[in-house]
Amino acid sequence: MKIFNTRSSLQQYLSQKRSEGNTTGLVPTMGALHKGHISLLAEAKKYADVIVCSIFVNPTQFNDPKDLEKYPRPIEHDIEMLINAGCDVLFNPTVDEMYQPGETWHLDIGPLESMLEGKFRPGHYQGVTQVVFKLFDIIKPDFAFFGQKDYQQVKVITRMVDMLHMPLKMIMCPIVREPEGLAMSSRNVHLSTNERANSILLSATLYNVKHQFGKLTIDELKQLAVKELTSNPNIQLDYFEIADADTLVPAKADTQHMVALVAAKVGNVRLIDNIILN
Ligand code: AMP
Repeated sequence: MKIFNTRSSLQQYLSQKRSEGNTTGLVPTMGALHKGHISLLAEAKKYADVIVCSIFVNPTQFNDPKDLEKYPRPIEHDIEMLINAGCDVLFNPTVDEMYQPGETWHLDIGPLESMLEGKFRPGHYQGVTQVVFKLFDIIKPDFAFFGQKDYQQVKVITRMVDMLHMPLKMIMCPIVREPEGLAMSSRNVHLSTNERANSILLSATLYNVKHQFGKLTIDELKQLAVKELTSNPNIQLDYFEIADADTLVPAKADTQHMVALVAAKVGNVRLIDNIILN
């Protein structure tokens, strides 16, 4: 696996590969890799000739400085995982390599910006579009792979790609879970044994809602989920929503495709999860 820390060295390498007729697949990550990330790489290998994984803990998408500071950064372990997964290229830039001092950014992504995650993490999706725009611009991938785990993120980036006519195909990959149901996340390492046991309620509730889908009304499903999630005093619910799977506005009885999304704090760890209902 080739490792690049600078934009210019990566671009030089990729333009050579492109001139030889190879396509490029990009898997953007913040590192602390787990099987969820590896599943994106496995999917990318089905589509593209050269697989690039980026590891960059992007400061502009963190609205909580403590969260940024304590974000895990096990780079040696990540490199080993990427080699084992057959990744071709790791792009691991510094903050200075990615950002100019005093740089600003704003992209109008419409209502997606301030709903659900956007409401609880103001500015988060501006930081996400800012860094992903840069990665797409540097790497010029033919395909980009994102996890359904961050469902709203996929919608936000797809909106950016469509609005700016970016010449790449977005691929959303399914959520990889722990055997007990918890969606894999780099933040799970911060969960104590007790917190981890409590956190299973998130996925269990989503599965229950899916099971009851079609038997209860949307309001009844929401009530059921909120009741379950708030029954555990160790879970602090941010939101539970059943939304239109395309626009993420709250679903109505006649909405065609729906997704249930949840965000909650378990101890100091904020977790998100979702399930596609139909
Ligand atoms: P992150 O490093 O958390 O920014 O995640 C990088 C990419 O991996 C994003 O597209 C995530 O949606 C995806 N991802 C994270 N966790 C999972 C998971 N459990 N299953 C599938 N994809 C995931």
